[in-house]
Amino acid sequence: MKDLLIKNAQIVNAHETLIADILIQGAIISRIEKGIRGSGEEIIVEAGGMPVIPGGIDPHVHLALPSAVGMSSDDFSSGSRAALAGGTTSLIDFVTPGKEELLTTALSKRKKEAENCVTDVGFHMGITSWRSHTAEEMRRCVEEEGITSFKVYLAYIDTIGVDYQELELIMETAAKLGALVAVHCEDGKAIAVNQENLRISGRLTPAYHAVSRPDELEARAVQKLIELSEKTACRVYIVHVSCRKSVELISSAQKRGVEVEGETCLHYLLFDESVYQLPDYEMLPYIVSPPIRSKSDQDALWTGISDGTLKVVSTDHCPFKLKGQKDKGIKDFTKIPNGTGGIGFRLSLLYTYGVLTKRITMNQWVDLCSAQAARIFGMSAAKGCIAEGFNSDLVLWDPEVKRIIHADELKLRCDHTIYEGFQILGGPKTIIRQGRICG
Ligand SMILES: [Zn+2]
Repeated sequence: MKDLLIKNAQIVNAHETLIADILIQGAIISRIEKGIRGSGEEIIVEAGGMPVIPGGIDPHVHLALPSAVGMSSDDFSSGSRAALAGGTTSLIDFVTPGKEELLTTALSKRKKEAENCVTDVGFHMGITSWRSHTAEEMRRCVEEEGITSFKVYLAYIDTIGVDYQELELIMETAAKLGALVAVHCEDGKAIAVNQENLRISGRLTPAYHAVSRPDELEARAVQKLIELSEKTACRVYIVHVSCRKSVELISSAQKRGVEVEGETCLHYLLFDESVYQLPDYEMLPYIVSPPIRSKSDQDALWTGISDGTLKVVSTDHCPFKLKGQKDKGIKDFTKIPNGTGGIGFRLSLLYTYGVLTKRITMNQWVDLCSAQAARIFGMSAAKGCIAEGFNSDLVLWDPEVKRIIHADELKLRCDHTIYEGFQILGGPKTIIRQGRICG
């Protein structure tokens, strides 16, 4: 493999911006300096002052997710290709074991399913029940399999969710192992009661999805999780924070020194609850959990990512087709598969609607899309930063890119995107992964 020399790069890291050349040997960045004179054998990439950023890390994606209406529309191959084209070079997906299944058995199955992934991929180890052997299984995951984070759902209580007692046991164990627990915070029991009441009164159209999961129920779970984190000293990561109340709880816990990290997703930043006034069929793409919230919540999320309360913007990529999947629940919202896509648009959309609107800086954008995920999930010695000795996963960012998103032009296997018609200003020009130009 030939060495690569990127000339005149405007290196944008989370903590600095500098102009220099970048020499890549093998899969590693070996030198960063102005005016590097190569051996003459290298492949030269002239950046001409263009921004060069660390490859994106999306720590919240669900590829090839089984559901009652079949697999989510992207598998590891199609999803990772779309991610890479958009400048994301690393993904973290999930293992979701059956309630009786050994964690390590489920992990090796999931690794097989991910073999055709074209980006780096890691896994959060899901725990769907507490059994006598769970603590030992968790130890094996951390010590023998390199797992750094466990994932728990407080929602979906009838299927993959756990209750607060199980959560506490999981957190106690994770704390001893030095692992993080990532949590979907929505109070599953209360949502089940709401759903039942709505069913009894015949209110089952898609708009009632949001009615069944109000922001109080997210905040209640966040509050409980924070209390358990204080009690067990377990580091926690709250996935897809969607509302102001949660941001406020996380912020005040952080000020007390609780080790709680928050993530939000692209769709909560770019949409508000008015999507639930659309006609039923048109509303289906926006059926996600937690649901999309009010303008005021959206403002709180933007403030949260700019003041550092929320550290990561992920996609929670999990699209389902409208025809034959989402529409199966048009008469009963509890049957609509939850999820939406965006794996390839995260960098461009956050750049267009965050950096160019001056809500966040370029450095914060890199922090939110790459550096923080590397830090939180134990990859900060190799990823999330352009520095000597780090992995050579880089993106030359072209601010002149200008296009409109259309589902039919995408590398996705889905029949729609919620970002249809969104304008993008800025995108990858060259993508380098593991020392090779790959896009
Ligand atoms: Zn998710």
